[in-house]
Amino acid sequence: MARYTGPVCRLCRRERTKLFLKGERCNSIKCPVSEIAERRKRAFPPGEHGRDRVRQGSEYLVQLREKQKARRIYGVLERQFVRIYEEANRQSGITGENLLRMLELRLDNVTFRAGWASSRAQARQFVRHGQVLVNGNRVTIPSFRVRKGDIVSLREKAANFILIRHNLDTIDRTKPAWLEVAQDAPTKATVVSLPIREQIDEPVREQLIVELYSK
Ligand code: SF4
Repeated sequence: MARYTGPVCRLCRRERTKLFLKGERCNSIKCPVSEIAERRKRAFPPGEHGRDRVRQGSEYLVQLREKQKARRIYGVLERQFVRIYEEANRQSGITGENLLRMLELRLDNVTFRAGWASSRAQARQFVRHGQVLVNGNRVTIPSFRVRKGDIVSLREKAANFILIRHNLDTIDRTKPAWLEVAQDAPTKATVVSLPIREQIDEPVREQLIVELYSK
């Protein structure tokens, strides 16, 4: 499946918020959307006319930006995102919450949430390279959707990679309540329940996305 391969900081600058797409760098002063950059007036939208762009707050624009933000946070391209939305719409319950839940249950996101990768892009690479197992079987599809009760783990060899060891030692990310990672077995995560909205800490207003696609 295709993925965005361009510069990612410009995605944050476009949304004028930190999307945390680059791992450790996102928490440093190098981040162009950091408060320091804001003070230096460097946090303007990307592109030749980024500084001059007049921001019009139409309803459509607000909805569009919210959808783009969600897509960029989870690293999903438009066509795939629409497919996920349509499936969420067909399910019973609140469409926006269904959408976020399905995005959260992607294997690359679970790898990221478990604290094995510094960003979703890195998590995606681990999955693509076959370092992640679901119920003991290697799964190389980042969009693979895990289910309640699934056990996601790192391949034994991968758990000894310097990069992953570094991540395990340094990443101090709060694990969501729906994903259980034991202290004594940090390379194994169990999906104990399906995520509910309160357990998803991404700053996405999913209702706006639903409104956009419902037009
Ligand atoms: Fe770049 Fe991360 Fe800052 Fe976004 S949050 S602008 S990806 S450094």
